[in-house]
Amino acid sequence: MRQAVTAAVKRALNLTGHYARALAERRFPGIAVLAYHGVLADGTQRAGVPFAQLHVSAEQLEDHCALLAAHCDLLSLAQADAIWRGEAEAPARGVLVTFDDGHGALVDLALPILRRHAVPAVLFACTDPIVRQVHFWFDAVARARGEAAVESAKAMAWNEWHALAASCETRVADGDLLAPLTAAQLVALTADPLITIGAHTASHPILSRAPRDVQRAEITQSIAAIAQVTGRTPTAFAYPNGRPGIDYDMTTLALLREAGITTAFTTAEGFAARSGPLERSRFTMLASISVSELAHRLAHAWT
Ligand SMILES: [Zn+2]
Repeated sequence: MRQAVTAAVKRALNLTGHYARALAERRFPGIAVLAYHGVLADGTQRAGVPFAQLHVSAEQLEDHCALLAAHCDLLSLAQADAIWRGEAEAPARGVLVTFDDGHGALVDLALPILRRHAVPAVLFACTDPIVRQVHFWFDAVARARGEAAVESAKAMAWNEWHALAASCETRVADGDLLAPLTAAQLVALTADPLITIGAHTASHPILSRAPRDVQRAEITQSIAAIAQVTGRTPTAFAYPNGRPGIDYDMTTLALLREAGITTAFTTAEGFAARSGPLERSRFTMLASISVSELAHRLAHAWT
């Protein structure tokens, strides 16, 4: 009840232009990097979609993009990098939009919306499922055994996790909501000047649980696969699951440097400031974040 009232108040504040006025006065303490994952068509039956909170609706993404285009300073990865390196002036309200994993809906649903509002975006692509046309392991395991099984798998030793993921692997069927991008779709995304592709490992393990040689292979194989498919070698990376000190470690940072990665993103919540190029924080975007909620967070709540 209280939540519904708060949401209604935020809706009213958004409609009356309160957030727009508050935002116009605000100067962010860093760049707001937004971490989206998948997108679902409006009206999609969400029951039975694993981790449905990680998939915003197309209408929601459209509203978010319209808000960001109107009241924030949208940046490409190259522009954000130049600001972080101190080579360019930071705008008052810099925002960088990112998508993790690489579900197929990014081309069908997200790309037209990004184009309509001229929103630059980075896709951090997990490459094995794209190249081999199998589901991301977390989607396959959740479908076979439930979301709780995915959460406990994240805490497993790497070989235990690997065996589970392999045993649940499923091939993508036509019209599958959770299909990863095809290689052709990844090429189509690369061809759009709004889109930059970054790496997100080959198979999306929890890197800190994997031995050093596996970590290295996961990182270098994803970079090589993107370079092979798109003709461009990525220099940006997002950690699977992304919690600092939990999902990756000092070895991961050293291996990223060795692989030529210059910017990497976590899932720690916060504005991304100049320090720590390999541990830039982001704000995770969920299906429950309405446009008025996003406006509220941008104008007041995120500090
Ligand atoms: Zn991911």
